[in-house]
Amino acid sequence: MGFARDFGLRINVAQLLKGPTGAVRRMDLYEDITRIDDELSIQSPLAGSLTVIRTADGVLVTASLDATTELECCRCVTPFAAPVRLEIEEEFHPSVDIHTGARLPVLDTEEAATTIDEQHFLDLAEVVRQAIFLAQPMHPLCRGDCAGLCSQCGKDLNTERCQCVADSVDTRLEVLKQLL
Ligand SMILES: [Zn+2]
Ligand SMILES: [Zn+2]
Repeated sequence: MGFARDFGLRINVAQLLKGPTGAVRRMDLYEDITRIDDELSIQSPLAGSLTVIRTADGVLVTASLDATTELECCRCVTPFAAPVRLEIEEEFHPSVDIHTGARLPVLDTEEAATTIDEQHFLDLAEVVRQAIFLAQPMHPLCRGDCAGLCSQCGKDLNTERCQCVADSVDTRLEVLKQLL
């Protein structure tokens, strides 16, 4: 698994942490995330806007982000570009006290992705990575009426015709003729 740390998805929240609860910072995002995960084929930069709000315990990130990933159609097995919309709402917690620099209690590994590091950066990479996986359809379709592959000869019925369907219709007609 693993995730890279240099996507430009690291955000310095030092000023915000020094501010009062409720302080807000807004920013636009336009980042190359093609290397965010080996299993994902990202076709566009991650784009959108995000808001970071100072909370009592840390900062809350809310973001609406768009990207394009390459998926494989579950019917015809052809890769196609699919837009994904990520709605992110995640609270990040500091690992050191912003005023004293004192270490705060160590969080377990599950919370590592939402921990603000000692330099007061939060890293959206893992949250974004997980959101992309969650946003992917269980049964991706290249288009709603994808004809899929012929179950008998395996040809892509979107691009070519095969004789399999015609043959079975003929067989049925033969049966009908014999009945008559
Ligand atoms: Zn398809
Ligand atoms: Zn066929």
